[in-house]
Amino acid sequence: MLRLREDIPLFPGGKKKAFTLSSDDGVTQDGRLTALMRKYEIKGTFHLNSGLMGDRDWLIQPGIDVSHYKYKKEEAAEIYNGFEIAVHTVTHPDLTRIPPAMASYEIAADKKELEELVHHPVLGMSYPFGTFNDSVKQTAKNCGIFYSRTIIETNSFQLPADFMEWNPTCHYCSESRMALAQTFLDSDTSCEYKAPLLFYVWGHAYQLDAYNDWDSLENFFKMIGGNDEIWYASNIEICSYMHAVKSLIYSSTGDYIFNPSSTDVWMQIDGQAYCIRSGETVAINWHHKDDAAKFN
Ligand SMILES: [Zn+2]
Repeated sequence: MLRLREDIPLFPGGKKKAFTLSSDDGVTQDGRLTALMRKYEIKGTFHLNSGLMGDRDWLIQPGIDVSHYKYKKEEAAEIYNGFEIAVHTVTHPDLTRIPPAMASYEIAADKKELEELVHHPVLGMSYPFGTFNDSVKQTAKNCGIFYSRTIIETNSFQLPADFMEWNPTCHYCSESRMALAQTFLDSDTSCEYKAPLLFYVWGHAYQLDAYNDWDSLENFFKMIGGNDEIWYASNIEICSYMHAVKSLIYSSTGDYIFNPSSTDVWMQIDGQAYCIRSGETVAINWHHKDDAAKFN
């Protein structure tokens, strides 16, 4: 007789907490941001507009009077080395206000330009102005996009139900970032039924200049960085990992799980951690909770 069991994905290494950051528009303040991220071992993603690279414009908005210079294409590979580069469209239009044919071009042409920089498929995106609808989501998917970030802040640590509507936890200049970091660090994930937590911050690095917020951001990185309990990953690493989790193939009884992906996957089953290596099948001892741990 089968009984209910709970299979919970764990992050790589069996971790239950992950942190990621993304930053939009490819402004030259990204140089200072990437230096800070390297210092505190923070991973993340930069969403770039290939058609605006090298632009030298100035942004004036209520409360903001700041350089909005963008890196040139030939500078980008070095500046963003070690981070994910992802689509933000060629010219930053509101994709909900242009015809699908033009939206397709904005996404696919940006993707192609960025792939020429990094020499591998670019699969990530964030929506310019955060605007999207079902048509925009489908267009992005058709262009080969695997995830796209919104600007809807959840102030929570849930993984997205739909990676094409990936809502971040908060802005990296948010007043609540330190309180959220404390909540995240204090969260006890040892309970076997507790789902893994993702803390996702987003922003534009020019805002750090505009709000004179660099020191506070560094304090935030000091607090959240360099913690062995946390998996630091780019957006696409998290998306790809969860894709591998979803691709696991179960036997009818759940006694055997095959991992057809190229990524090792960690799962917690009845409170026990398993590593299901790429291409391998693991037997699950879930009828006998006292069996030796399979974690390796
Ligand atoms: Zn933008």
